[in-house]
Amino acid sequence: MRIKVLGSGAGGGFPQWNCNCGNCRAVRAGTPGFAPRTQSSLAVSANGADWLLLNASPDLRQQISAAPELAPGADDGLRASPIKAVALTNGDVDHVAGLLNMREAQAFSLYAAGRVLDALGANPIFTILQTQLVPRIELHMDEAVAIRGAGIDLGLAVRAFPVPGKIALYLENANAPNFGTSAGDTLGLEIIDAETGHSFFYIPGCAKIDAPLADRLRGAKLVFFDGTLFQENEMIEQGLLGKTGTRMGHINVGGADGSIAAFAPLDVTDEYAVAQAAGWEIGEDGMEVSL
Ligand SMILES: [Zn+2]
Repeated sequence: MRIKVLGSGAGGGFPQWNCNCGNCRAVRAGTPGFAPRTQSSLAVSANGADWLLLNASPDLRQQISAAPELAPGADDGLRASPIKAVALTNGDVDHVAGLLNMREAQAFSLYAAGRVLDALGANPIFTILQTQLVPRIELHMDEAVAIRGAGIDLGLAVRAFPVPGKIALYLENANAPNFGTSAGDTLGLEIIDAETGHSFFYIPGCAKIDAPLADRLRGAKLVFFDGTLFQENEMIEQGLLGKTGTRMGHINVGGADGSIAAFAPLDVTDEYAVAQAAGWEIGEDGMEVSL
């Protein structure tokens, strides 16, 4: 199984178009140690030819252009793509806007939770992906689903499970406190190679590592995990946004209540995410992992 990091940045990317913070200024200036990052997404393939995207970021067109594996092959017809399926972890703009780059009458399958499919179904702009060509397939919680797209069996299965998170920002209702939920607005995905049985987890948005999630991840070979924030209040303290990490649906990386501390007892054998000092590796655009 090949796993390619298409994008390793948070929503907005790095630098974010309208952000003038010290970090975004440093990346624009080319300061060593500040690499640009597109918005988070992975591509996975069991056979190296047919690919499943995990989330479709607003930067998808740029990400496809930077990945030769995702271009039409020399022997393909006039319209072709190695991308045969997309699986979504939630309905965030960061994760669905790239679907609009996948128009032009190309067949692939779209997998998501029922609540996310409802949100897409309520927005007519997504009818540009005609359902005859792009079937929308509901991911039921804790069921491993064999991934198929454009008539091809990808040799991969996806098992979705709810993680603490929140509903997409554009669906928030001021009258109903609908953040911090575990009802399936935010999913983790376990991607399984059908032939080898190897699997890894993709959890790009997560507000808390609760006991069920910790149990699930204990002993995992590989986890890609939310690294949006290092500290709960960093956006507030820098004057960028008046929201805590919890309010945005993201656990902080550092501190006693952070993800590094929560992962410490879980025996994850190869940890890919943040903070190398703690044995974590920071994902970069274009990084590739074989499992
Ligand atoms: Zn910034």
